Amino acid sequence: MSRNTIRLILVVGTLSIIGILLIQAYWVIKNYELKEKEFDLTVRLSLKNVAENILKYNHNSSPLVDPVAEISPDFFTVKVNDKIDSNLLGGLLRNEFLKEGIKTDIFYSIYDCMGKRIDVTGMVCFDSTSTCTATVTGNLPHWNYDNFYFSVYFPEREKVLLSGMKLWLISTIVLIVLIIFFAYVLFVVFQQKRLSEIQKDFINNMTHEFRTPISTILISCEVLKDSKIIDNPQRLNSYAAIIERQAHRLNQHVERVLQMAKIDKGNIQLKHEQINIHDLLLEALSKLNSSGNNESLTIEYNFLAENPIFMGDRLHLLNIVFNLLDNAVKYCEKDPKVIVTTEENNSDIVIRLADNGIGIALEYQKKIFEKFFRVPNGNVHNVKGFGLGLNYVKNIVKAHNGHIELKSQIEKGSIFTVTLPRNK
Ligand code: ADP
Repeated sequence: MSRNTIRLILVVGTLSIIGILLIQAYWVIKNYELKEKEFDLTVRLSLKNVAENILKYNHNSSPLVDPVAEISPDFFTVKVNDKIDSNLLGGLLRNEFLKEGIKTDIFYSIYDCMGKRIDVTGMVCFDSTSTCTATVTGNLPHWNYDNFYFSVYFPEREKVLLSGMKLWLISTIVLIVLIIFFAYVLFVVFQQKRLSEIQKDFINNMTHEFRTPISTILISCEVLKDSKIIDNPQRLNSYAAIIERQAHRLNQHVERVLQMAKIDKGNIQLKHEQINIHDLLLEALSKLNSSGNNESLTIEYNFLAENPIFMGDRLHLLNIVFNLLDNAVKYCEKDPKVIVTTEENNSDIVIRLADNGIGIALEYQKKIFEKFFRVPNGNVHNVKGFGLGLNYVKNIVKAHNGHIELKSQIEKGSIFTVTLPRNK
C-alpha cells in the first residue's frame, strides 16, 4: 500500500470518527434538553395537582390561575392562597411524583406571606438511604403573593435527568471504547508497516554492506591466483592488505549485528574491569586504523581527566568509542577531524568527541539513537549503514548508568558527550 493511500485512509478515518463523535454529542445534548423539558412539564403538572388537592382538602373552590412559577430549573414556587398543612403537602408531593415516576428527594417550604416568614420546611425522601439534608440553593422568591404558598427544590435534579439517559451514556461509552480500539488497531497496523519497511531497508543495507567487501575480496583473490604475482611481491602485498582490510570490514558488520542481537535479548552482562579510558580511546583509533576506515583522519586528543581509571566493561566501551569515531569519519564530506576530550568531576568521567562532519538536523537528533533509524540524507551522501551503531552506544552507556548527549549543527559538525558515573 502506497504512502498516499495510507495517508488518505488515515484522513478519511479520522474525519469519520470526528463526524460520528460530533453526531453522538449532538444527540446526547438534544436528548438532555428533551429530558429537561419533560422534567419541567411533569413537575409543573404535578405541582398544579398538589395545589388543587390542597384546596380540595380545605373545601376551597376558588380557581387557581397559573399557580406554578419556575424560579430556577430546580426550584419552583406554587401559589395556593390558603392554609397549607405541612403533612398534607408532604404526602401529596410524594403521591404525585410517585405517580409520575420521579423518585427524587424534594425539599419543600411553606411561606406565610402575611407574616412574611417561612412557616415550615420539610423533605420528601424516596431513597431510604438518603440523608435528606439538602438546602435550598436557588434564589428565594419575592414576597408578592396574597397568601400562603409553598416552594419545592430538587437537589438531585441532574441525577434524575442523567438516569433517564442511561442508554445514551452507555452507547457513548461503547462508541468511545470502539474508537480507542480502532485507533489502537490503526497504530498496530502502521507500526507493523513501519517495521516491515525498516526490515526491508535493513536487508538492502546489509546486502550492500556485505556485497562490496565480498566482491573486492573475490577480485583480489583472482589476482592472487595468477602465478606471475610471485614475481611482484609489492603487488602481492597490496592485494593481501586489501583482503585484510575488507575482512576487517566484514567482521565489523557481523560484530555490529551481533552486538544488537545481544542487547535485544536483554542480557547485557557487563564485566566489571578496571579500564584506563585514555588507553581505551587510543585503542579505538588503532582499531579504526586496522579497519582502513580512517583515510585522512586528523585526531586531536585533549586528555584533561587526571584520573582516567573507570570500572566497566572494556569491550563494550571500546565498541562504543569505535562506533562514534567510525561515524565521525563516515559522515564527513571533507577531511575528517575529530577532537577527543576527557574531563572529570567529582563523580563522573566524561568523554567528548567533536567532529567536523555533515552534522545532524535538530529534528533527527533524538531519533538517531533509535534502532534502525538513519538520517534520510545518510543515503544521499551514499554512506551505507544499519542504523544500529548509536542505539548500541546508548544502550551500553545506559547499562553503565551513564548518559549520552548530542549537540550538532548542519554542515558544522557534531559533538557526542558520554558521561559515565564512577560510583555506580
Ligand atoms: P549507521 O551509521 O549504521 O547508519 P548509526 O546508529 O551509527 O547507524 O547512526 C544513525 C544515523 O545517525 C546515521 O545514519 C547518520 O545519519 C547519523 N549520524 C551518526 N553519527 C553521525 C555524525 N557523527 N555526523 C553526522 N551524522 C551522524
